[in-house]
Formats: sequence, C-alpha cells, structure tokens
Amino acid sequence: MNKTIRKAAVIGSGIMGSGIAAHLANVGISCLLLDVVPKQLTEEEAVKGLTLENPAVRNRLALSAIAKLAKTKPAPLYDNSFASRITAGNLEDDLSKLAQVDWIIEVVVENLEVKKGLLQKIESVWTPGTIVSSNTSGISINDMAASCGDEFKEHFMGTHFFNPPRYMKLLEIIPGEHTRPELVSFMKGFCEKVLGKGVVLAKDTPNFIGNRIGTYGLLVTLKEMTENGFTVEEVDAVTGPAMGRPKSATFRTLDLVGLDTFVHVADNVYNHVLSESERSIFAVPPMLQTMVEKGWLGEKSGQGFYVKK
Ligand code: NAD
Repeated sequence: MNKTIRKAAVIGSGIMGSGIAAHLANVGISCLLLDVVPKQLTEEEAVKGLTLENPAVRNRLALSAIAKLAKTKPAPLYDNSFASRITAGNLEDDLSKLAQVDWIIEVVVENLEVKKGLLQKIESVWTPGTIVSSNTSGISINDMAASCGDEFKEHFMGTHFFNPPRYMKLLEIIPGEHTRPELVSFMKGFCEKVLGKGVVLAKDTPNFIGNRIGTYGLLVTLKEMTENGFTVEEVDAVTGPAMGRPKSATFRTLDLVGLDTFVHVADNVYNHVLSESERSIFAVPPMLQTMVEKGWLGEKSGQGFYVKK
C-alpha cells in the first residue's frame, strides 16, 4: 500500500497523549497535540493579566504537557529538536487542522460518550484517507464509531499503546468490523517498523487482551491483599524488582496508570461480562472508589497509593 505518515494529531494531552506525541516526534513525525480549552484562569495567569482568550491560556494543557516531557529524564525529548516537532493547541481553535494530517489519535478520558462525541467532531473535518484511531484501554471500537459514516468507520481502529508509551514495546491494534484490512496491515507494519512496537492484533472484546488479563490480575491482587492483611509495601516488594519486574510493582503501576482511569477500565469489563463469578472479580472495591472521590488519582495528582515526592 502506497501510504505514509508524516504528520499526526494527538487529541488529549494527559499521561498517554503526551507520551504518544513524544514517541511520534522522536521518530520524526510532526505532531499536533490538542486538549480542551480551560474554563478558568490559574492564579498565575490572573496575576500576569492574561484572559481566557489568550493562546497561552487556551493551549495551557498541551503546553504544560510538552514542558513536562522536555524535563523528563532520561528523556528522548531532552534534545529540543524533538520537542520542536510537537505543536500545542486546543480542539476549539484547531479543529480544522485535523484535515491536514495523516493520522489522528484519540487519547481522551475513558468514557464512551465523550469518545463518541469527539469522533463525530473529528469526522466533521476529516479527509478521506486519513487514519483515525483510539487509544482506549478497552471500550468497544464498534460502539465508539457507531454514529459515524461508513467511510469513516473503514478508516477507524484501536491503537492501544501501553504506559509509558515511549518505553513499552507492546501495542494492540483492534480493527472494528468495518475497518479496511489493508489499513490494518499498513498500521501493523508502520507501528512495528517505524515506531518500533511489538504489535498484537486483538478482537473488539471488552478491554481487548492486555487489559482483560491485567485488570483481572490487579483486582484479584487487591482482594487477596485486603482479605489476608498484606500491606501495599509487601505486595510491591513481592511483585516488583525482586521478581525481575523493575518498574511494574502492583501499586506503583496503579499510581502510574491513574486510579480514575483504572476504575473506568474495570467498570467497562464489569458492565460487559455476563457470568456472576466474573462480575464479582471485576467489581471495583469501595477502597478504590473512595480514593478516586478524594482526588487520590496516583502520580498525576501527587497522591495515590504512594505520595509523589
Ligand atoms: P488523562 O486523564 O491523563 O488525560 C486525559 C486528557 O484528555 C486530559 O488532558 C483531558 O483534559 C483531555 N480531554 C478530556 N476530554 C477531552 C475532549 N473532549 N477533547 C480533548 N481532550 C479531552 O488520561 P490518560 O491516562 O492519558 O488516558 C487517555 C486514554 O488512554 C484513555 O482512553 C485511557 O483508557 C487510555 N489508556 C490509559 C493508560 C494509562 O495507563 N493511563 C494506558 C493505556 C491506555
């Protein structure tokens, strides 16, 4: 297939969107990073006399994500020539720019209605030929595109990067029922050869493969820990470096993922599985719900199972 990706747009500049944009920039793809327009000024912006019309305010979320990436060490983005390939923007002012890219990646909150609304917005400016994908952790690709036109659905699929996207090799590609097979083959080759990923093709089942198994494992661990009185530190001591998994101790991983995102991901399976025994495993324990209500979301809020220093 005679296709190439030189320009991409990533929508959602949170943990995953910023990391995906950085990974693309590292391989030479110029990347537009978009988020929502903030509704309020920060104290600092007010002191500077900025208004909600100012581009520095309107693009604040994506701009601060890029600034954070540039400081990360060891940082493939440390050399500013990579960072300069990422342009910050917002969805309201820059929607029409989506017509000029080769690949649009949706990386916003894990919520079906938000994602459906966003896909319809994307479709309103979409150029046939442009690939559109979602980084959803497990929401159905077919459901997400249900309100879109046939030609758009043919260009839409899941491209599920794992966290952190610059370092995790695994990438699931999930075709929808209408996705053109030649675009799936193209993306598989592109993600393997150009992005350096190990691609696994997955069916459009709740939470696909990685998060169906991973969510199960994390919830069973939490249940066993609570019932047997193990501590967070004990579980992490056993499931982390000492077991040959330098970065993936259970609760460190949950803090990295974001507890709010994890709750959405577990709920997605809970709402789609039919057997009672499976449902009892995928039910999110009250402790996690309480932490999310308190705003303890993990690393992104500074407090989760651990306090970020
Ligand atoms: P996050 O909370 O860090 O970031 C979400 C971003 O989306 C925020 O910056 C928010 O302002 C923005 N946003 C929300 N609604 C928007 C809209 N309508 N338009 C534009 N931007 C909008 O979340 P995250 O962890 O980066 O997760 C994003 C997606 O990636 C989710 O679908 C999640 O399930 C998936 N994912 C997450 C992980 C993980 O470990 N966190 C791993 C793989 C996949």
